Amino acid sequence: MPTHRLLPLSRLRASGDPYALRVTQVREGNARGGMVLYHARAARRTRNNLALDFARTLGKNVIVTDGEPTHAQLARARYVVVDEFPTLPTPDYATHLFDGNGILPMRAMEKEQYSARFFRDRAFRLFEQFWIGMPTARVDLAFLDGYARLHNRTPKHTSGFSVALHTGELGIHELVAAVLRSGAPEEDVEAFLEQAIIRRELSFNLCHYNPRYDSLDALPAWARKTLDEHRSDRRKPVYTYDELERAATHDEVWNLAQRQLLVTGTMHGYLRMLWGKKIIEWSATPEEAHRTMVRLHDVHALDGRDPNTHAGILWCFGKHDRPWAPERPIFGTIRWMSSEQTARKVLLRDIEALLH
Ligand SMILES: Cc1cc2nc3c(=O)[nH]c(=O)nc-3n(C[C@H](O)[C@H](O)[C@H](O)COP(=O)(O)OP(=O)(O)OC[C@H]3O[C@@H](n4cnc5c(N)ncnc54)[C@H](O)[C@@H]3O)c2cc1C
Repeated sequence: MPTHRLLPLSRLRASGDPYALRVTQVREGNARGGMVLYHARAARRTRNNLALDFARTLGKNVIVTDGEPTHAQLARARYVVVDEFPTLPTPDYATHLFDGNGILPMRAMEKEQYSARFFRDRAFRLFEQFWIGMPTARVDLAFLDGYARLHNRTPKHTSGFSVALHTGELGIHELVAAVLRSGAPEEDVEAFLEQAIIRRELSFNLCHYNPRYDSLDALPAWARKTLDEHRSDRRKPVYTYDELERAATHDEVWNLAQRQLLVTGTMHGYLRMLWGKKIIEWSATPEEAHRTMVRLHDVHALDGRDPNTHAGILWCFGKHDRPWAPERPIFGTIRWMSSEQTARKVLLRDIEALLH
């Protein structure tokens, strides 16, 4: 499926209602309150922020906080707008949840989507309705030139934006606006938007619609079945959580990926896939492998606790993927990856350079 149909985004006109499907009123306002409080817990910025724009439609006097609101603030607030984020619970003080997470509101897709292909097909039809033009983010896009060919090969051609997108210091609308106006080669823009829109929003779709997103129960039936059929296969070696955390395995490619996580709080995208696959290979059960991956992210990843964390981890177990031949020990028909091939594909010295 070519991704070039994403490009017309830049030529779309803003939809009539920028808040369509983004606002959920969960409680009545406090009639005695005077101001509007906006708790920016996922979109931590005051520029180019749809939720803040919405809060301003509720009243003139708007206070913004990126931490838990105080008792005094809540007592004075007529309305409390809170960022909706699929891995965070709804606080009982919210009057409105605002979903500013994606180019598409999460509810634009009415249910969980099976794969990137299904998501992409539907997304292309919906962009026209939901695209909102925005001023551009002030970000360095030098990495973009060559992204399509090189992003799996070297961190020099990845954005490193996952932390800022997770904290909301960078918004997806302002980022996409900047990318569309960057003048970078079309194939690089397309390849980047495939990750930043399609892959990222597929993760939000998973966590919004599947309450079991943090467990192997969220896997498709074929993946659960093949993992079960290989449950008693011999694992050798099996590493403890502690050994994995310390990057103390026999596999230097894997250790490098883990060290990158420990030192920088993130990991290069291609290495991250290998990292997860090997944890499956070296854990006593698939469930233990899953727990280990989530815990290592919870403890060490600055971009962790994100829908992308859960979708990325589940992808290692077959989520949003398909069966692959040949059937192998431990993995069954789940895609397997090799450290040797990864070492040939990724410029490991570029990763090493990030650690000093
Ligand atoms: C096991 C595993 C765990 C992962 N954990 C996380 C995580 O905790 N947080 C996280 O943000 N991403 C996670 N990912 C997805 C992906 O690896 C990272 O988003 C990407 O490597 C971040 O680096 P970047 O910002 O330089 O990416 P770029 O290549 O520059 O991509 C730009 C943006 O697109 C989005 N994106 C890129 N690849 C993916 C993808 N495969 N799925 C969803 N969105 C994507 C991210 O928001 C990213 O910041 C995980 C993937 C795997 C396989």
